[in-house]
Amino acid sequence: MRPISYTRAGTLEAAVKAFTAAGADARYLAGGTTLYDLMKLGVERPAHLIDLTGIAGLNIIETDGDVLRFGALALMGDVAYTPAVHEGYPVLSESLLKAASQQLRNMATVGGNLLQRTRCMYFRNGAGSTSTVGVYPCNRRQPGSGCAAIGGLDRGHAVLGASDACTAVSPGDWPVALMAMDATIELFGPGGARSIPIAEFYRLPSDTPHLQFNVDPAELITAITVPKTPGRASTYHKIRDRESFAFALASAAVAVEMDGATVRTARIALGGVATVPWRAQPAEDMVRGKTLTPELALEAGRAAFRGARPGQHNAFKMDLGARVIADALMIAAERRS
Ligand SMILES: Cc1cc2nc3c(=O)[nH]c(=O)nc-3n(C[C@H](O)[C@H](O)[C@H](O)COP(=O)(O)OP(=O)(O)OC[C@H]3O[C@@H](n4cnc5c(N)ncnc54)[C@H](O)[C@@H]3O)c2cc1C
Repeated sequence: MRPISYTRAGTLEAAVKAFTAAGADARYLAGGTTLYDLMKLGVERPAHLIDLTGIAGLNIIETDGDVLRFGALALMGDVAYTPAVHEGYPVLSESLLKAASQQLRNMATVGGNLLQRTRCMYFRNGAGSTSTVGVYPCNRRQPGSGCAAIGGLDRGHAVLGASDACTAVSPGDWPVALMAMDATIELFGPGGARSIPIAEFYRLPSDTPHLQFNVDPAELITAITVPKTPGRASTYHKIRDRESFAFALASAAVAVEMDGATVRTARIALGGVATVPWRAQPAEDMVRGKTLTPELALEAGRAAFRGARPGQHNAFKMDLGARVIADALMIAAERRS
């Protein structure tokens, strides 16, 4: 048995102080739905847990100001069902409601969702795994050990943003929606408060796939803000092996401003197909200023996958992803007021 110390912090300052004092083996704890899972698998082996749930104000949901503001500890379910979010920003609400299960959404936080690790089975095959074939190499879990997914079972893996060191997919739905909505992440750490656009939050795997986020380990997420965008219609469209309680094979978050049938602006992000939440700018460029038809929407979807690098078993994601973008564009455009 490995001893683990536990601290319930009452303030942001106390949390950061406890983390800094504990060193590299510390982890912040929110809902625990990912962290405990990975601890049981032996992938995460923290010696110190710093529980954030005692910090007042971190679970706020504000919709009255200039921006939508979600405290990092706001629950996925609570954010999804907030009327102003559910009605005015369906892309946000749908990305949360199509994730996990209601039980998980009642426990899991919107901040923890941003920091979840990949569901790649080779990554999750840690020292606590019950696999009979031993622990697979994984550069993300153990830098320099190799990547069993390359040349292995890669049906669920990335076709965009992969490197020779890692092809694991970024699993979250919510970050994909935040990418389409230009969200900003607010942080607090040893150097004080700062914020970072969601587009700069995630790192491509390159040759350092173990470094997933552009955040100092001692920094904690305090809030997520989303600009208000009246006039934008949106949707989150997710295709998975079963219609509930499954991660995306391909998903698209789309937010459009329409002028009749003409697309004035489009923001499109992809999930389930890339190593990070993926902005599909070529698809956006293809529809901007044009009359939206199903044919143009599919052409835009295909443009998003130019340059994609499929592995052995995941080439189907290029066609699936293109069709998901096309459908999402048509759904969002239909919703224009
Ligand atoms: C069976 C199952 C199915 C799922 N399906 C989906 C799905 O379809 N789509 C999807 O998007 N997600 C899915 N999830 C993932 C789920 O959404 C995440 O587990 C959840 O959002 C994580 O939030 P949490 O509060 O429980 O985080 P925790 O488990 O507490 O923490 C997760 C990570 O974030 C860190 N952390 C947490 N909060 C902060 C903070 N404020 N500041 C700094 N670090 C922090 C922790 O140290 C840890 O590393 C699924 C999970 C399970 C178990």
